[in-house]
Amino acid sequence: MSAKVWLIGAGPGDPELLTLKAVRALGEAEMVLIDDLVNPEVLEHCPQARIIRVGKRGGCRSTPQDFIHRLMLRYARQGKCVARLKGGDPCIFGRGSEEADWLAEHGIATEIVNGITSGLAGATQCGIPLTLRGVARGVTLVTAHTQDDSSLNWQALAQSGTTLVVYMGVAKLVEIRDGLLAGGLRADMPVAMIENASLPQQRECRSSLGAMQQDATAFRLKSPAILVIGEVAAVAQPVLMASPFKVSYLSRPRLHGP
Ligand code: SAH
Repeated sequence: MSAKVWLIGAGPGDPELLTLKAVRALGEAEMVLIDDLVNPEVLEHCPQARIIRVGKRGGCRSTPQDFIHRLMLRYARQGKCVARLKGGDPCIFGRGSEEADWLAEHGIATEIVNGITSGLAGATQCGIPLTLRGVARGVTLVTAHTQDDSSLNWQALAQSGTTLVVYMGVAKLVEIRDGLLAGGLRADMPVAMIENASLPQQRECRSSLGAMQQDATAFRLKSPAILVIGEVAAVAQPVLMASPFKVSYLSRPRLHGP
């Protein structure tokens, strides 16, 4: 048989945000390699599988990437149905394509199953529309964390006129703020910081570009969190949400947009 590895996006945390295709692939899997941002509740769809945890959080102790590669290869070569479960979407800051390329070089085909990326889910769970007619014509997903510690072109991002969704930004708030202010974004540009998006322990902190670092400290913002920077982050002020899965729009944005 020709071996194949499923690279599956498990979504942001709410197990109901898993796709039907992910559920089907999990049902077929014999080995499941799971990242640490994946909600273990999704494993109810693969009671038959052997589970291997291969967490990889930036800055934390983690399973080396080449070890994960070799594990997938070993089981695929044994003819096992392997599923690699990643948080959010496998190809949004998830190394999905690197893993697929490496496996292809070793003769193993992969099939990638999209997941809902945390940046999109986090905004929605807080009632923030990332695009909004007349206010935000686009959205840019960026990571504040780079392998080589190189800096992003914050000036270009500040001038993009799009909503910015920043992943892995909690430890880089000063750099993000200073870069975007230097690039011309207003200090009162709305910001929403969303921790544990779509999970029961989701928290959100509304702030502004100029105040976000102090507000995040006072709020004790922790990873995993995403930042939404742009006019749309003023939509739906912090609300008492009966359920983290409900979206309510309490106010319209202050219109500074195009
Ligand atoms: N592939 C993932 C991103 C992995 S990078 C995705 O598509 O979502 C890890 C970063 O994702 C975290 O540092 C955080 O910025 C973000 N993240 C992942 N899960 C999150 C969650 N439930 N709530 C908020 N941010 C999350």
